[in-house]
Amino acid sequence: MPYDFTPKGLGKGVGRVSKHKTASGETRHQYEILDEKIGANGEASSRLLQRTAEGDPYRAQTKINAFNFPFTGNSGGGCFFQCSYCFLRQPFFQMHRTLPHGREMDVSLNFGSATEAFLRKNAHLPQYMKRVQWGVATEMWHPRTVGLGKPFEGLRAFQKFGQNWMLHIVTKSPKILDYAELLAEMKHQVQVEVSFVTLNEEASRIFETGTPSVRQRLHIVEELSRKGVFVRVMMMPCMREYVLQTIENVRHIVFEHRDTGKRAAGFKRVSERDGNAGEDKVGLELYISKRWKKLPPGESCLWKPVILKDWSDLAQTQASWRNWGASAYKQKDLNYYYVDELIQAHQEARAPKPERGRVEDPTAECLVQSGESVVDENGNFRTVEVRGHHKPRREWSGAKTPPLVMRNIMDFGYRLHSNIDWVDCI
Ligand code: SF4
Repeated sequence: MPYDFTPKGLGKGVGRVSKHKTASGETRHQYEILDEKIGANGEASSRLLQRTAEGDPYRAQTKINAFNFPFTGNSGGGCFFQCSYCFLRQPFFQMHRTLPHGREMDVSLNFGSATEAFLRKNAHLPQYMKRVQWGVATEMWHPRTVGLGKPFEGLRAFQKFGQNWMLHIVTKSPKILDYAELLAEMKHQVQVEVSFVTLNEEASRIFETGTPSVRQRLHIVEELSRKGVFVRVMMMPCMREYVLQTIENVRHIVFEHRDTGKRAAGFKRVSERDGNAGEDKVGLELYISKRWKKLPPGESCLWKPVILKDWSDLAQTQASWRNWGASAYKQKDLNYYYVDELIQAHQEARAPKPERGRVEDPTAECLVQSGESVVDENGNFRTVEVRGHHKPRREWSGAKTPPLVMRNIMDFGYRLHSNIDWVDCI
């Protein structure tokens, strides 16, 4: 087994049940093996689990920005597609019970009714909160699970009980095309985000061992767009291979000054996470003369990262996504890993090692109708005051109503397919 992983108490055999205890000792999850594949060595090579007792598949989020929506929904967990960069590999997100990432998925069999209950429970929320992102912890349209998790029953629940909710669906699976007609019926409220990391099929096999091909995913974009569904091309994470320098045992991206050509290693940071990464909020810390130096955002934008190779062909993607019919585009830097480690892990048939201290470059972000800040005629960010229902209760200062918060207005392209006023999104 090429992964560093300790199985959690399950032996072989279909039908065994696993119990997971929380820190307080309460049993919250139960899983039953629905299906498993046995490898040549007699060990399970992959398992499909059914959640027989589980909490709500919907989760409220405490920050909202271009990449985080007020709620997430998942018809299960895990993914057989085995992308090497997948954030679900990280311990914080690991929910696997019996096998490592890429070899185990679990499904809830009540996703449709849970969606209806979620929509009824949250019908009172203000419009800006009525947005859900599906499929952040799993591939909901995976061919092996879609008939069990039945995300299409969730779609019908939105169609019936949540007509004024926005539903963002993330996928790499052409199986979603089986429901293209239903999505077209719901085009005023769905945005389908098709995920890529490169347009090159050979590079895709390095970073995405088990996913559908690039060509198949482009077909999703083309087909759904042709039916009038709002489709976003997501080049996320983008595979920019940087020039790196090790400082105090941590590798950092090397930046170059646009005018002087001077180089120094460092990292860019967004100071305000509950908003959008406007240039005025991106600061840079550089290692110069053996000391860390903070540069203000105005100076920071003069420094650009030095890129060894762009495996995502970002210029080509940015020039092409409209031709495929898509209405929106977004890209974002890689979390947790550097590209060279992903390539090395692929060559050695092992899981990649996340890099401690890895800081993504926020200036790699490119958002087109995907959550970018909207500016007024004077070039200033447009803002709006809303009740911060997404804020955790501890920030309500004991009040019964959430505090008023000022938010940047974001452009998600909603105006192209919906008449609903989303308040902080257009
Ligand atoms: S398709 Fe998405 S969820 Fe599945 S392994 Fe790849 S990145 Fe992870």
